Parts: sequence; C-alpha cells; structure tokens
Amino acid sequence: ETDMNALVDEYLRLSYHGLRAKDKNFNSDMVLDLDPELPKLKIIPQDIGRVMLNLFNNAFYAVQLKKKTGGKKYKPLVEVSTSLFTPPKGKSEIRIYVKDNGNGIPEANKEKIMQPFFTTKPAGEGTGLGLSLSYDIVVKGHRGKMDMSSKEGEYTEFTIHLPVA
Ligand code: ADP
Ligand code: MG
Repeated sequence: ETDMNALVDEYLRLSYHGLRAKDKNFNSDMVLDLDPELPKLKIIPQDIGRVMLNLFNNAFYAVQLKKKTGGKKYKPLVEVSTSLFTPPKGKSEIRIYVKDNGNGIPEANKEKIMQPFFTTKPAGEGTGLGLSLSYDIVVKGHRGKMDMSSKEGEYTEFTIHLPVA
C-alpha cells in the first residue's frame, strides 16, 4: 500500500538534488500540487519510483536545454500534480502529471521516444531506455497507461494513469 503523494514528493526531490549535485548552475522552478484525497495504491514502489525519476530528470533536462535558446525572460518551470479520477462507469485511477516548459518534442520524434535506445541526448547523458522501461513498468507491470502531449519549443506533459485496485 503506497502513498503516491509521498512517493512523488520523494523522487522529485531526489531528481532535483541529484541534478544540482552534478551541476551547480542547474535550477528550475517547481510547482507540486498533490491531491490530499488520493487512496493508497498497490504498486511496486521502487518501479514506479524509477518511472517518476526518469520523467522528472527528462523534464529538468528539457528546461535546461530551453535555457540556452529561451532568452533572458525564460523561467524554467516543472509542474507536477496528482489527482484521483473517478469515471461515471468503471474503475477509478490515480493520475500523475509531469509538465515542463522546456524544449518540447518535435513531431517527427513523437512516435520514436518510447522505443528503446531512442535518445536525442549526447553519449553519456542519456541511454534512451527511460521511457521504454517506464512503459513496461506502467502498462505491463501495473495495468496503467501513459500519455504524452508536447509542442516543440514550448512544453511537454506526460500523464501516468494507475488503476485503483
Ligand atoms: P533518455 O532520457 O536517456 O534520452 P528517455 O527514454 O527517457 O531516454 O527519453 C527519450 C527521448 O525522449 C529523449 O532523449 C528526448 O528526446 C525525449 N524526451 C523525453 N522527455 C522529454 C521532455 N520532457 N522534453 C523534451 N524531450 C523529451
Ligand atoms: Mg530519460
């Protein structure tokens, strides 16, 4: 029985402080909006933790990239939220949203990003395995879903859906 809010909070800190430790110039605003009404979830916390860590690292990486082209007014922002979604029929699910105002994903890359080893990062900075592993963990391991929406140069948002048992 996992408290998803606590897990999200823990891994967001882990991601941010990990990146800060590697690069003193790294910084980003963050907004964390956790739904206090979330039920506990039956999940494998280490696995969902890896999914969170990769989404947060990707988001912070994207805002760092945008800093190079975004001009002086650009303010990096990563927004993370959780919510309980209860459809009129069928099962409730917990949703975790991770949105960044970074460099975005070009149309041509959108169908490739989930493939193993697809990366746009230089060697040593990315393996291209994060999202494909996340897909396996969320979809195959937890019967969940993963959605992405992005506009090149503007934003990227990933949504993780986890069914409430
Ligand atoms: P890696 O981070 O090692 O490159 P991932 O599977 O996590 O591998 O991501 C694959 C690719 O998807 C990234 O290299 C990047 O091109 C794109 N991507 C993922 N998340 C974002 C994001 N938040 N903003 C922009 N591009 C992203
Ligand atoms: Mg990654």
